[in-house]
Amino acid sequence: MSALKVEPIPCLRDNYAYLISDPEAGDAWLVDPSEPGPPQTALSGRPGLTLRGILATHHHYDHVGGIEALVTGAQGEPPWVAGHASDRGRIPHQSRFIDAPVGRFVPSGIELSGRPLLAMWIPGHTLGAIAWYLPPEEGDDDGVGDVFTGDTLFAAGCGRLFEGTPAQMHASLQNITSLPSATRLWFGHEYTAANLRFAETVEPENPAIRRRQNALSPQTTPTTVADERATNPFVRAATAEVLAERRAAKDSFRG
Ligand code: FE
Ligand code: ZN
Repeated sequence: MSALKVEPIPCLRDNYAYLISDPEAGDAWLVDPSEPGPPQTALSGRPGLTLRGILATHHHYDHVGGIEALVTGAQGEPPWVAGHASDRGRIPHQSRFIDAPVGRFVPSGIELSGRPLLAMWIPGHTLGAIAWYLPPEEGDDDGVGDVFTGDTLFAAGCGRLFEGTPAQMHASLQNITSLPSATRLWFGHEYTAANLRFAETVEPENPAIRRRQNALSPQTTPTTVADERATNPFVRAATAEVLAERRAAKDSFRG
């Protein structure tokens, strides 16, 4: 069995790219390289790793800005670049167009170290947003899966509605958090402190929000499905209308 490792790579001001690696096989993949420098430094700091592919959660520049240099600067075979099929033309060097549906994770056709990577369409922040899901290994009953949520779900928050509707964001958040409670959610920006300050204004009596604030560390990725169900005001919004009100309030929140 190959053990895949996930490591956050801080990029730009508050972005996270992620390095997924199989140190034994020497294979590596990147999620959302915002810029080329930090991912290249991470790769060269772990000798023996070759970058095989890049997973983009959505087309925004702070998630794909490093792709050009990583692809054109590759020694040997350049890494493939995967995104949702509907982001065609918006992700540099995209070579895999994943036609994943809304509502459920399906095999993407991509394997990482022989493990199938699943994908689900999660419109809301952008229309072509996609979640990548590495489920626990088959037969590992205690295994925990890993999901890359981009800017759709943050710890205690969600992305702004740049292209999608409140109904789409509501469905996307519910679909992500219908995974098992321990599932790790790796997100696109370190906004957690501000998100919790807003969450507290929405639910001042929620003890889980207070607990989370008291335990806050500078780097909060990954979060879990359980923590988001307990504290995230957008996941906890019962309807798309409630989500829309909270999103509008957060857009003008200065906490
Ligand atoms: Fe974004
Ligand atoms: Zn972003």
